[in-house]
Amino acid sequence: MIIVMKHGSTEQQIAEISRTLKSLGLGVHISEGTERTIIGVIGDKQLLRDIPLEIMPGVEKLVPIVESYKLAGRTFKPEKSLIDVNGVKIGGSEIVIMAGPCSVESREQIMEAAASVRKAGAKFLRGGAYKPRTSPYSFQGLEEDGLKLLKEASEATGLLIISEVTSEHTVDIVDRYVDMFQIGARNVQNFQLLKEIGRSRKPVLFKRGPSTTIDEWLNAAEYIMSGGNYNVVLCERGIRTFETSTRNTLDISAVPVIRNISHLPVFVDPSHSAGKAYLVPSLSMAAIAAGADGLIIEVHPDPIHAMSDAAQQITPDVFDSLCSDISRIAPILGRKFEGSVK
Ligand code: PEP
Ligand code: MN
Repeated sequence: MIIVMKHGSTEQQIAEISRTLKSLGLGVHISEGTERTIIGVIGDKQLLRDIPLEIMPGVEKLVPIVESYKLAGRTFKPEKSLIDVNGVKIGGSEIVIMAGPCSVESREQIMEAAASVRKAGAKFLRGGAYKPRTSPYSFQGLEEDGLKLLKEASEATGLLIISEVTSEHTVDIVDRYVDMFQIGARNVQNFQLLKEIGRSRKPVLFKRGPSTTIDEWLNAAEYIMSGGNYNVVLCERGIRTFETSTRNTLDISAVPVIRNISHLPVFVDPSHSAGKAYLVPSLSMAAIAAGADGLIIEVHPDPIHAMSDAAQQITPDVFDSLCSDISRIAPILGRKFEGSVK
């Protein structure tokens, strides 16, 4: 249920309602909109049967939330969320691009990747240090050494860092180095990990699983948000279908669907959707046209020799020309993208 407060309700009135709800053991989530404040109440409604909430000072009305996800939905927060990651705002008019290799492999590789993606217009450097590989015999990532290299590359270029956290046991280590957590497709319903990330306030890019419905995905996001971390950016990265010519099928309609039912920003990962480098520019353009807030793209200085996902990583040159195409379509769509820093 949500409690819609009257326009002009006071901080004391909101605090009084919060106190009443918390004293009953209910979860209280406050969304301060430009027009009015909304209080999300999570827990057993029966506990409220003797509390005359509708007549408490400042209350306009009580509205039930019919969706199974509560905090991720538009009922709780009608305005779109703007998520600030150390100065870069996600969810506004700017198209935000995150780019870099699938895995951090060496100092030379990550430095070269960072310099080239920054020049083309990326704001974040991506790179996996803990790799969730399908086979245990494949490269598993450089772990903390990889995170240290990402930090070095960030210091050299000013790029923000995003890297995947694969287990609740490594949240603290990853937290020390990154500006934003990435939760990968395989962990979309790793509820222990989601609860741990919910205790943090650090922004998280939360990928859809290859077989999760949008409803399941938003319910999973709810695990993070109900812990108090509202800094969630969703990321569509392709789902499993009968089609075999692509690694996954990019569910482009997920972008407008999410925008309709959720206030959370939505990204697209064209690389894992496609699985093939030549498809990445087209899928990126389609994602921006569909209204994505940004993209996360795999870029490698030498894709043929990449230690993971070689077939889908694009070269710095292709990335550069993709970024200049995006900077040309952005104004037509009422968006901003600075593109190349030359
Ligand atoms: C990745 O970003 O390298 C990755 C493993 O992606 P996903 O979780 O979407 O498969
Ligand atoms: Mn990858």
